[in-house]
Amino acid sequence: METKEHVPAMLEPIGQVLRRHPKVNLQLNRALAPFENSAKVLLFSCNMCGQCLLHENGYTCLMNCPKQVRNGPCGGVRMNGHCEVKPEMECIWLKAERRSRRFPGRYLFLRIHAPLDWRRKGSSAILNAVAGWPGNGKE
Ligand code: SF4
Repeated sequence: METKEHVPAMLEPIGQVLRRHPKVNLQLNRALAPFENSAKVLLFSCNMCGQCLLHENGYTCLMNCPKQVRNGPCGGVRMNGHCEVKPEMECIWLKAERRSRRFPGRYLFLRIHAPLDWRRKGSSAILNAVAGWPGNGKE
């Protein structure tokens, strides 16, 4: 799974444990997710989807899109670059594109994202990435 591009190979044994032992995964999530998610809420207005794409989008959480589209802006972006659902808000995709220019790996911005796995919402995106769960990366 492509998610593992971002996960050091030395963490694979931990990933195996997370995949094979759901109870261990659950307990680790209970311990880690509140810290991870509260830090990301403060820093990035994280919506706790559990399948983080911050590093691919200029550290902009695309889940702040009112439609929560994860593959490019919808067709409703206004001429001034604002959202059709929330006219007072700049389209999150425009913001992400602009910010992604400042970070290495800008090519990641163009990748197609897998559909969100809603079962992972609220869980630790770090643990999910280490485990390499389906839906946590790209197609
Ligand atoms: S992509 Fe998901 S995990 Fe990452 S900041 Fe946004 S809601 Fe949080």
